[in-house]
Amino acid sequence: MIVITSVREMSEKAGSLKKSGRTIGFVPTMGYLHEGHCSLIRSARRNSDTVVVSIFVNPPQFGRGEDLDAYPRDFKRDERLAEKAGADIVFYPEANDVYAGDHRTFVTVEKLTEGLCGSSRPGHFRGVTTVVAKLFGVVRPDTAYFGQKDAQQAIVIKKMAADLNMGVAIRVEPIVREVDGLAMSSRNVYLSPAERVDALVLSRSLKKARSLIEGGQRNAENVKEAIEEVVNTAPSAAIDYVAIVNAANLIDLKTLQGEALIALAVFIGKTRLIDNCIIHV
Ligand code: AMP
Repeated sequence: MIVITSVREMSEKAGSLKKSGRTIGFVPTMGYLHEGHCSLIRSARRNSDTVVVSIFVNPPQFGRGEDLDAYPRDFKRDERLAEKAGADIVFYPEANDVYAGDHRTFVTVEKLTEGLCGSSRPGHFRGVTTVVAKLFGVVRPDTAYFGQKDAQQAIVIKKMAADLNMGVAIRVEPIVREVDGLAMSSRNVYLSPAERVDALVLSRSLKKARSLIEGGQRNAENVKEAIEEVVNTAPSAAIDYVAIVNAANLIDLKTLQGEALIALAVFIGKTRLIDNCIIHV
């Protein structure tokens, strides 16, 4: 496995890989890798000749007062985990190499970025789509791998890749969880032991929602209330949003039908966590 830190070098490497006819599987991450990231890398390994993993904490996707500076970083550990999962190249650029001083171009996906995380994190998705578009331009992947953990992000990126004819296939892989149900996240390290226990209300509330729906409940408002009730049992929890939307277009559902995305964001103390599930009704 090699580490490339320069945008130009990565671009040249991708060019020569393409020329030699090798397929490129790409896994963009912000590092501090865990099993969720590694499952994406393994999937890329199974399906491509060359696997590129980027590690880049992207400043434009963080709002004011968010955790850009505190975001956990451990490059040596990431290098080991990426190699073990099957990466050939770790692309680890500096922010001032990714964004030249006169950078003026941003990518915005409309509508799909308005609700859910988009309304509580203004500008977040503009930062995400811009960096992913730029990384696609440098790495030139055939297929890029994203996690269902960030359900809205996966939908937004699929739309961007299709609308801009990027020629990149987007694969979305299932959420990887700890044994007790907590969705893996680099941000879980922020949690104190008591908060770590409280954080289980996210997955538990989704389980409750699923069982209500399996029992015949179809009223979205009632399901949301049940989710809120479970979340509010945790002393350190403060709900950011609970949403039940059409899983394809993210439009609010009043009545559960078709493929529904149930998504929530909850502050556990100061740490904002997200989780979701898709239910076919
Ligand atoms: P991040 O480093 O948090 O930006 O995540 C990089 C990629 O890993 C994104 O596509 C995430 O959706 C995905 N990912 C993060 N956590 C998980 C998880 N628990 N299960 C599956 N994919 C994940």
